[in-house]
Amino acid sequence: MTTTTPALVADTAGAPFVQRLVERREVGANDVAIDVKFAGICHSDIHQVREEWGSAIFPMVPGHEVAGIVSAVGADVTAFKVGDRVGVGCMVDSCGECEFCLDGFEQHCTRGAVMTYNGLGYDGEPTLGGYSQSLVVSERFACPIPEGISLAEAAPLLCAGITTYSPLRRWGVGPGSKVAVIGMGGLGHMGVKIAHAMGAEVTVLSRSLAKADDSRALGATDHLATSDKDALKARSSYFDVILNTVSADLDMGTYLRLVKPRGVFVSVGLPTEPYSVRPGALIGTSKVMAGSNIGGIPETVEMLQFCADHGFGATVETINADEVDAAYEKVVAGEVRYRYVIDVSTISA
Ligand code: NAP
Ligand code: ZN
Repeated sequence: MTTTTPALVADTAGAPFVQRLVERREVGANDVAIDVKFAGICHSDIHQVREEWGSAIFPMVPGHEVAGIVSAVGADVTAFKVGDRVGVGCMVDSCGECEFCLDGFEQHCTRGAVMTYNGLGYDGEPTLGGYSQSLVVSERFACPIPEGISLAEAAPLLCAGITTYSPLRRWGVGPGSKVAVIGMGGLGHMGVKIAHAMGAEVTVLSRSLAKADDSRALGATDHLATSDKDALKARSSYFDVILNTVSADLDMGTYLRLVKPRGVFVSVGLPTEPYSVRPGALIGTSKVMAGSNIGGIPETVEMLQFCADHGFGATVETINADEVDAAYEKVVAGEVRYRYVIDVSTISA
């Protein structure tokens, strides 16, 4: 039997959110139902609800940074029981059989992973995300949240955490690495915490010095304003890894110069316009320019444990359902410190 749950719904691109009931599917044999407690606001929610990445599916319930408590389990569920603390990120299904799924990279599933919202399930039904009070997902896409991280601080780890953890791991960040993080927002602040916890020396490259104290408090050694050309020049060929989390266009030449020969510039920020790169900026010094898409489920589980072991979650501001429209404006203006998390119990419908 399907159920209904209060949710924040955008009916058309860019429309203000309305609070009303949406349907959730019946809990299948391999499903868990989750009482959602908190949902983070990722800049990807804003890109999608405003159709900045192309046409989207409406009505839309965004939310792919979800933390809550298991409220029911299907007959064949083995990994979870009622009462467990769990998180759900950007995906809710994948084929489970292709080489990428078998290797734990469900985000690259050859059939196409089912995204948590603004996607179509394999049953053809549009998916609706975590800005809601309950969610039903396959147990394969629920991740245990270790004790020691509050659910509010855990929610953003399901996207911002894994999206920064995965490329830092892949490109070998550890003690002795020099890492720069461009953009101190939701993803960026997690990149700083995680790279620092991995043992790297971390520098934040931000548009101004306004967030410098915060950068240092989160573990960065240095914080440079990207408008300060001399400060950037002093870091030429300095970084092993630069992690670009900026949601807007950037002059690649400026930042590629800061990467050491054979080092890596990896983008996770997803602006709408192409980057322009002079081939010589990569070839002359054998640099790698890379991208990274969230992370698979095994790595997400590993990341949650890594954060718990190091005693941190995200740095969050908890807001009510009626504050979400205003929060979107603040995220776009770069004013969030550093992730808004919606207390979904405040959705009334
Ligand atoms: P966010 O909280 O808005 O942070 C982005 C940061 O980029 C801002 O805090 C700001 O940092 C900087 N920035 C913003 N506008 C800028 C501009 N015009 N020029 C230069 N810097 C600017 O966003 P987020 O939630 O972290 O997401 C960041 C991007 O990653 C988005 O495009 C999102 O869609 C994408 N994303 C990708 C993945 C993936 O799998 N690859 C996953 C999640 C999100 P300063 O104030 O420090 O300059
Ligand atoms: Zn996200």
